[in-house]
Amino acid sequence: MKGQPSGTCELCGRSPLATTVHHLVPREKGGALQQTALLCKACHRQIHALYTNDDLVVLGLTTVEALQHDPQFSSYLKWIGKQAPGSEPKLRKSQRVRGKR
Ligand SMILES: [Zn+2]
Ligand SMILES: [Zn+2]
Repeated sequence: MKGQPSGTCELCGRSPLATTVHHLVPREKGGALQQTALLCKACHRQIHALYTNDDLVVLGLTTVEALQHDPQFSSYLKWIGKQAPGSEPKLRKSQRVRGKR
């Protein structure tokens, strides 16, 4: 039966919510390594809004722990932790993605 989401996000720890699979090591970078994490949609989108696949590898953000300790991402986590699991808050884009003014 579909319907009630029952997952827990490995990054922000909120539950219950629907989770999506994130490849911690992008397929074109990691060869045989196929580690994945189950993330809520908000965290998953935030990762890809903040970092390119190259960034994830270059910055070493290929584990859940590394993402949680990344300065940019940890400030996001503090914020999302206060949001209700069912909500889909508007994402704040990083300054990099937004570009200079
Ligand atoms: Zn999350
Ligand atoms: Zn992903």
